[in-house]
Amino acid sequence: MKRLVAGLFLLLASACQSLSAQPIIVTETSSPTSAIILPTATTTPAPSATSTASPTSPSPTSPSPTSIPPTVAPFPVSPGDLQPSPIPLSAGFPASAHVPLALSEHDHFYFSRPVLNAELDRLIPSNRYGSIQLGTKNDAHGGVDIVMDIGTPLVAAAPGTVIFTGVGLFDGKGRANDPYGVAIVIAHDFGFDGEHLYTAYAHLSQTYVEVGQHVERGEVIGLSGNTGLTTGPHLHFEVRSGTNSALKTRNPELWIAPPEGWGVLVGRITDSEDKVVLNIPVDVSSLKTGLHWESSSYATENKLTPDAYYQENFVLGDLPAGRYKILIIYLYTWFTAEVEIKPGAVTYFDFHGYNGFNFELPEEPSLDFVPE
Ligand SMILES: [Zn+2]
Repeated sequence: MKRLVAGLFLLLASACQSLSAQPIIVTETSSPTSAIILPTATTTPAPSATSTASPTSPSPTSPSPTSIPPTVAPFPVSPGDLQPSPIPLSAGFPASAHVPLALSEHDHFYFSRPVLNAELDRLIPSNRYGSIQLGTKNDAHGGVDIVMDIGTPLVAAAPGTVIFTGVGLFDGKGRANDPYGVAIVIAHDFGFDGEHLYTAYAHLSQTYVEVGQHVERGEVIGLSGNTGLTTGPHLHFEVRSGTNSALKTRNPELWIAPPEGWGVLVGRITDSEDKVVLNIPVDVSSLKTGLHWESSSYATENKLTPDAYYQENFVLGDLPAGRYKILIIYLYTWFTAEVEIKPGAVTYFDFHGYNGFNFELPEEPSLDFVPE
């Protein structure tokens, strides 16, 4: 089933084209800094087994869109009951887990999915973060793509202040041929690890928000479209940290809460000398259902920024909880390992060339560690 779905998405081919030119860092035209609270006790994930990390509440006086009010209540922000979902795969995705969700101090599922309709809410498997789209690692994909028809309502992934709307996110405000097309950027009310967090929504057909406006999680901000450099209708979604720049992206699958009862597999794939290796295919199969997921390692150079803790170059989200087999063929040698995907959590592996798999968690970053 999953293969069929993946194949369908490939046929739809609604891929973002990559952005190879030097981007312009978009400066914030409002003053979102005042609305952003850098990590404090309220925004740092609790290292306990409960999902209580809570971004601070937005101002109750924030304006709402006047043209189209939110059509649904925001996602609940409360401790989640992380029981595996009883909804079978064939019925589509289960609902998103409660957010923010952070089962360990290193996890940060702070964002909800940016689409209301769970049935539409599927990543295009060939367009994951870091996928190579124009043939060189300089063109690695800085976000994830979610397939949907033009005109699908898009929602804010978390509370924050709108700092960009319109055309020109990459090339500069107002430039008509910008590859992002019509886009929105939200500076969020919370940060992580001392850095601001932003989400970007691209290729829209319409926006319902203005710069300076505060939005709530789940609030409709615009409609999906096919503007900019695309090969079909879809949403391009980015998570940015530190600076609102296309060069400061993070893998959204480490930031969007997985559906209830599902988890995320994160890997660091290197050669035997600990040098990160690009484009190593990874096959992940459920020992329970036999379903397969396929993806590849990506570069951690140029505009892609790995997590400071995991230092990953492979992420596979949206895996129903359970036991899986990972298969990596490295220099004609097969390596396999079994892992347990836990609901709402990150499962980490390290693949170290001929040394194979290792499941020990990374060491804490040293004090002088500076993410690239
Ligand atoms: Zn994209």
